[in-house]
Amino acid sequence: SAHVNGNAATANGVALNGRDSPAESSERLQIVNDEKQFTQELTPQLERWGLRDVGFNYNIVAVFGSQSTGKSTLLNRLFGTTFDVMDETQRQQTTKGIWMCRGKGTSIMVMDVEGTDGRERGEDQDFERKSALFSLASSEVMIVNLWEHQVGLYQGANMGLLKTVFEVNLGLFGKKPQDGTSGRTLLLFVIRDHIGVTPLANLQTTLTADMNRIWDSLSKPAELQDKHLSDYFDLAFTTLPHKILAADKFEAEVRQLRTRFTDKDREDYLFKPVYHKRIPADGVAFYMENIWEQVQTNKDLDLPTQQELLAQFRCDEIASVAIAEFNEQSKSQRKPIEVGRVVEGLGGLMRNWKTQALTRYDRDASRYHQGVYKRKRADLVAVLDSTLSPLFLGQLKNLHKACLSAFKKELLEGLRGEDYSFADVMNKAREKCETRFTQGAQEALLEDTDWTSEEELVLLQEEVANVGDQCRKDETKKMVNLIERNFKRQISEPVDLALNKASADMWDKVLSTFRETLEKAESNYLTKARSFNCTEEENEAALATLRKRAWLALRAKVDEQTADTAILGKLRSHFEESFRYDEHGVPRVWKPDDDIDGAFKKAKEETLELVPRYSKIAPLEPSLEISLPSESPDPLTSTDEFDFPSTLVIFSETKSLDLIARFRRDADAYYVEAKRSTVSSIAQ
Ligand code: GDP
Ligand code: MG
Repeated sequence: SAHVNGNAATANGVALNGRDSPAESSERLQIVNDEKQFTQELTPQLERWGLRDVGFNYNIVAVFGSQSTGKSTLLNRLFGTTFDVMDETQRQQTTKGIWMCRGKGTSIMVMDVEGTDGRERGEDQDFERKSALFSLASSEVMIVNLWEHQVGLYQGANMGLLKTVFEVNLGLFGKKPQDGTSGRTLLLFVIRDHIGVTPLANLQTTLTADMNRIWDSLSKPAELQDKHLSDYFDLAFTTLPHKILAADKFEAEVRQLRTRFTDKDREDYLFKPVYHKRIPADGVAFYMENIWEQVQTNKDLDLPTQQELLAQFRCDEIASVAIAEFNEQSKSQRKPIEVGRVVEGLGGLMRNWKTQALTRYDRDASRYHQGVYKRKRADLVAVLDSTLSPLFLGQLKNLHKACLSAFKKELLEGLRGEDYSFADVMNKAREKCETRFTQGAQEALLEDTDWTSEEELVLLQEEVANVGDQCRKDETKKMVNLIERNFKRQISEPVDLALNKASADMWDKVLSTFRETLEKAESNYLTKARSFNCTEEENEAALATLRKRAWLALRAKVDEQTADTAILGKLRSHFEESFRYDEHGVPRVWKPDDDIDGAFKKAKEETLELVPRYSKIAPLEPSLEISLPSESPDPLTSTDEFDFPSTLVIFSETKSLDLIARFRRDADAYYVEAKRSTVSSIAQ
């Protein structure tokens, strides 16, 4: 049958793979070449085998034994692999190095070592030692392959190799790994070409005794003097019949042996968890390469250190993958923040990105050395937070701006119309503004950071207070203007009346009107100012302004009523009143006997008396006298000079004389007219 020889077996393996699984699963990889260089292809190859992301869910088996003892043949039969087998007809050496295949239909990484038989040629024992060391550092099960007739040949080549295995094991696992793995390895002795005369039990006894003898003969470091072989190795034994002479039996037993590698439920399942080296699959390439490097340079192979190095490398790699994705996400909100937008739900987004990055990291990195994993995680968190921090700060700035302008808008809206309490509007707007900011800031603030929005809040509060102050000042001004307008309206008629009448107590009337109206205006101001929360000084200043403006308004009114035409009109009508009308208010018709001169003189003198009355604001009643503080001109506050006493003077002396002269001319005209009227009445 085709199963009989090794080449056919290889061909069969490939054919099987080609039929029911992707071609790559039958690929093999030379992980160490004949130049003793480690491949860069292992990780991609593991990926193609579909093993890269299986975590710890994989197994590694290696083989050990003299040249041409059928190791590759056995592996190919057991695992459906495609390792080179020596061609019987040409007895040609296969390519030197360490090879790896994926066990067909399994998650088993199978390693085969090819080398010249150093012992026969007296060369390159070095490579065997190194490959054994390398295999032990990573394999769970090491198959020790030997012929039945080699058993008990203590001096044989195999025994020398085993001694090597134990020696390197001491170097490897002498120190206890700190990560909780046991460092135990199973040595599975496969006794080939078993004829069946000597039962397995006897072979097993002989081999065990040999093992212990070899163990005892090792020179061990002092601290490991008391260690037994069984502290490091479990031994298992099995036989296989002659592959050619008992081909069917051989095939059947190989199939049985195979299930011991694949069937977890079997009691004699070989890949016990305790043998696992706890290297996550995605770190196997890095780990193996480093181990090989150490082995190559004959450095002490300190596995715990190797595992930590591996963890550092892989955790960094995993973190940078997480960071790259995270950066891509966080970049999306950088622009909006930069142009001043408040990003709705930014905190939620950031939390999400951060959680995703950490989840990704945890999933892959938590399988590695815990100390390293945790340390690198803290580094990762710091990187994530420092990437997000500018977004947070930008969001605060934008939030600050948005809240402030909303505050202004609300304030203006609230102050529209007449009927409002400034303090209420102000407090409501301020509260809303602060609440909005605080809530927005809280949403964007990530837990477990030293971020704070305190400073920004203080800045905002300051600006809100400034805006509020300015607004209050404007409002106060507006109010003072309004009161001033009302004041003007209120004094207009009483002042007109009083000035027209020109009675002796004319100024008493004017001033008492002024006082009453001003008092009303002041109390009006104070009532409103209460809701503005104005300060004492602000009130003082506003009232002083109000008084001064009220006074100037009064003076303007007086000026209007005492302008040249107006005052001359007033004088004229006084004169007319007394000269042209009798005491009953009936117009006089002058007769020749009438005392025109006397009447004229009386009316003129009475009228002229009014000029000094108009010329100065002077009440009869001293308590009605008014006094306001004078002000010198100030270019800073743009106040004009205000000299109160001079505002009491309506006309100067010269002006009075001028008015009197002009009035006389008017009066004289009346006199002439009166005289003429009598002449004409005589003439009739
Ligand atoms: P390796 O060098 O240990 O990997 O050995 P190979 O697998 O290349 O086989 C070397 C030779 O031994 C080949 O010609 C195989 O056909 C032959 N061979 C393989 N398995 C057996 C076996 O179980 N018994 C015998 N007698 N020969 C075998
Ligand atoms: Mg081989």
